[in-house]
Amino acid sequence: MGRLAIIGGGAAGLAAAVTAARELRLLGVPGDVAVYEADERVGRSILATGNGRCNFSNARIDAGAYRNAAFVEAALGALAADDGLQPGGESVGPGPEGALGAAGPDPVHAFFAGLGLVWREEGEGRLYPLANKATSVLDVLRAAAADFGVAEACGRRAVRLDVPDRPGGRFHLRFADGTVGHADAVVLATGGRTARELLPEGIGFAAARPVLGPLRTATDVVRHLNNLRVRCAVTLAGPDGAPKAREAGELLFRDYGVSGIAVFNLSRFAEPGDRLLVDLLPQVPEDGCAAFLHARRRRLAFGDRPLSREAFLRGMLLPAVARAVLEEAGLAPEAPLAKRDVAVLARALKAFPLEVRGIGDERQCQVRRGGADVAAFDPRTLEARAVPGLHVVGEALDVDAPCGGYNLHWAWASGMLAGRGAVARLTGLDTATQDERR
Ligand SMILES: Cc1cc2nc3c(=O)[nH]c(=O)nc-3n(C[C@H](O)[C@H](O)[C@H](O)COP(=O)(O)OP(=O)(O)OC[C@H]3O[C@@H](n4cnc5c(N)ncnc54)[C@H](O)[C@@H]3O)c2cc1C
Repeated sequence: MGRLAIIGGGAAGLAAAVTAARELRLLGVPGDVAVYEADERVGRSILATGNGRCNFSNARIDAGAYRNAAFVEAALGALAADDGLQPGGESVGPGPEGALGAAGPDPVHAFFAGLGLVWREEGEGRLYPLANKATSVLDVLRAAAADFGVAEACGRRAVRLDVPDRPGGRFHLRFADGTVGHADAVVLATGGRTARELLPEGIGFAAARPVLGPLRTATDVVRHLNNLRVRCAVTLAGPDGAPKAREAGELLFRDYGVSGIAVFNLSRFAEPGDRLLVDLLPQVPEDGCAAFLHARRRRLAFGDRPLSREAFLRGMLLPAVARAVLEEAGLAPEAPLAKRDVAVLARALKAFPLEVRGIGDERQCQVRRGGADVAAFDPRTLEARAVPGLHVVGEALDVDAPCGGYNLHWAWASGMLAGRGAVARLTGLDTATQDERR
């Protein structure tokens, strides 16, 4: 009888536990699955997602959006091939109510549908549980884990993992409380924070740093705009001016910098010294902006009444934003608008610059960039090529993605792959034989 130890009872760890325990049950093979969680309860990380609503996946997952996209594509493809499904396939067929999702061809969505979760789609394909609470997602996972006999061991922080010293040997786990455990296969699902200290030597690890959060910028401009929101497009440009990434959406000014989903997504690529170029008139094409502003000037500057620069921007921008734009353009607000000002203003409005200093508030960051080097793992099972029986999943791997349900989707998908892979390792049955025996 084999024993599978899953270190970390977050998103990926729970998906691995449910998948492995169910697989053992379906195969009729005896085996133990235990989840060791440092916290006093499993799944706390899931409850914090999506502002407590858990944007658990996306209806249109695109592997290309992930860091290490080729590896993710191979992994999602392998998961789908096991199920005869399509990775990232359309998940939400319109039900009688028009937008309820219950099952679909994406394997992760099929997994959750099988656990009883019902969800609905919001903007940009974001999927949320129908009850609009992250607890729905955790509840179905924990109930399934209990049904399939998964043992939850909470308050058990793993501090050391010793790999087998001979073929067929066992893994040894040491915990902070001084206890020791043994296992025939291990899924490392600790997230990005502590994975490095448990990984065996020889597996590359890129230092993990928090991303998908607000950015700190030079503060001379933004501190006057604190808490104001603008709808805009933002380009992240390197110190040489070359664009690195572009996002559209709402930007929230903070006294230390900028926030909002567009900024979170850009933070994955931002380095100190880069510049954010905020397009405050995203609906107006770059080459048409001067003409748009000239037409506005002619419309507003009627009669003998002089039109101040501030008045020219009134009704188009919030007053504090208008003042910041004029300051950036080097134009005194109360002075009359001259024809030559228009070109200067067009530039400031289409590319309002903010110098990036770093991540704004690490506590708000949703993922860590970095982790175990994917080249060391088989994308079909997430098993370390050099350490049979050791699987690494979720954020512990060097995979991250933009907002929109992508990061949790990876956590579930990688957990499912590792759960199956670990069962194959414990039972000695390959996936095709497992399919036949089920
Ligand atoms: C505020 C916030 C909101 C987010 N919202 C979304 C969202 O809406 N949609 C989305 O797709 N993604 C979201 N994310 C990202 C998403 O939560 C993560 O990508 C995902 O949880 C990663 O899964 P994981 O299993 O790898 O790690 P985690 O879910 O972080 O789980 C790791 C678990 O391992 C435990 N652990 C760590 N070290 C040890 C150890 N040594 N021994 C034992 N246990 C250990 C931890 O306590 C934790 O329970 C959000 C993240 C944050 C922080």
